[in-house]
Amino acid sequence: GDASLDIDTLVIGAGPGGYAAAIRAAQLGQKVLCVDKGNVGGVCLNVGCIPSKALISAAHQYESVSHGADIGIEAEGVKLDFGKVQSFKDGVVKKLTGGVAALLKANKVEYFNGEVMFISDTEARVFNDQESPRYRFKNCIIATGSRPIELKPFPYGGRILSSTGALALQEVPKSLVVIGGGYIGIELGQMYAKFGAKVTVIEGLDSILAGFDPELTKLVDKKLRGQGVDIVTGAQAKSAEQTDDEVTITYSVDGEEKQITADYLLVTVGRKPNTDGDLGLDLIDLKMTDRGLIEVDDQCRTSIPNIYAIGDIVPGPALAHKATYEAKVAAEAIAGQPSKVDYKCIPLVVFSDPECASVGYSEQEAKDKGHKVTVGRFPFNINGRALSLNATDGFVKIVSDADSGLVLGAQIAGLEASNMIAELGLAIEMGATVEDIALTIHAHPTLGEIPMEAAEVALGHPIHTF
Ligand code: FAD
Repeated sequence: GDASLDIDTLVIGAGPGGYAAAIRAAQLGQKVLCVDKGNVGGVCLNVGCIPSKALISAAHQYESVSHGADIGIEAEGVKLDFGKVQSFKDGVVKKLTGGVAALLKANKVEYFNGEVMFISDTEARVFNDQESPRYRFKNCIIATGSRPIELKPFPYGGRILSSTGALALQEVPKSLVVIGGGYIGIELGQMYAKFGAKVTVIEGLDSILAGFDPELTKLVDKKLRGQGVDIVTGAQAKSAEQTDDEVTITYSVDGEEKQITADYLLVTVGRKPNTDGDLGLDLIDLKMTDRGLIEVDDQCRTSIPNIYAIGDIVPGPALAHKATYEAKVAAEAIAGQPSKVDYKCIPLVVFSDPECASVGYSEQEAKDKGHKVTVGRFPFNINGRALSLNATDGFVKIVSDADSGLVLGAQIAGLEASNMIAELGLAIEMGATVEDIALTIHAHPTLGEIPMEAAEVALGHPIHTF
């Protein structure tokens, strides 16, 4: 027969949004079914955050041993076994996805590897090659994520790669062209440059990493050029022609048509929400934005009250930690708790060299919101730890309200910016002032002292600068 099986909550997708939602809903006593047509862990664990960071870390280590002469370490015959680097990356991914599968099981979440199709707002069919059971659910959390945008002139395949293809190459290309200087293009382009590829970035706007504080991106731009990366801004990529072993890209800049030939072309021009296709959202008549995102309220509830949506398919930055944050809110809302999203403090990080990180308001945003602003800024190159790490590029900038001293935002460029930004996020969430940061004893010598010193600068009495 085709009777429906009853569950409390259906979670569609097992990425950082879906798996977290499933676990939290189960913790709150729900009978949960989590379905993914791909691998547990979604984009983030399989073809996004995690594999990219594993390869970036390997590239950084390779560059460090190859260029240690500055600090008196000259290594000869440093060899790169890229196949082994790839196995290292695969091992990290496997460990983490295995961990998520174990967590689902430990929390008694039922997992189904297959695709979901809505029948109505309380029923869905899930199917794979073997079976296609039907479920009746009380609530549903959609977390189907996103995929790379494919441009007509640059269809993926052969020598034309999406981010997924670029993470899976089994050799370091001699040359690589990247269309799109957003964070994914810059992270992966710089990674291959460090492994020895000749990299060219073609960007339509005036600068790479648009949307970030130009003070941060300038440092990355300079470093990339120093690493031999060509950056062409204000350029329009037009077409590509590929043979078995190379690809030629035509682009125009300043009204002039140019061509460049490389081993591979990586296209990273943004991502598209997985709200189309066979999922059947049209059948249940969900309210969407004109960009194909699902409209939600501050509890991640869609226009249909028992259906929630989280992660890359709803408005806001498409980031794993935002998906996981929304996951918890949605699961708690289903359990009747008064949880609500508050987006004041979503850290944005680029895992470039140097790293860039930002949280809360930029100086300009704070001014636009009507604050009288104080900026406390402290550079890496007079911090003892940064000097001893030979990592002197960078700074911490704290944006605070001049009258109250409340921390409103922070921008960091430099080694470990990704980790250091957490303290500033907490400061904003806790309603801390720059004085609170300055009065907190930070261990010496650490990069963690840089925010403390930036806070002292904001207060007007720094010890280590004038
Ligand atoms: P996803 O992770 O996309 O998961 C969605 C899941 O839903 C998929 O597994 C898919 O198979 C499944 N699915 C879709 N449709 C159906 C269906 N009909 N039935 C069943 N299952 C379905 N973010 C960061 O925060 N930090 C980073 O450093 C970072 N680096 C990145 C690097 C790269 C190269 C890329 C591509 C992305 C990166 N991101 C990063 C972004 C991050 O991966 C996403 O924001 C995050 O994965 C979104 O989570 P999600 O749960 O919304 O969706």
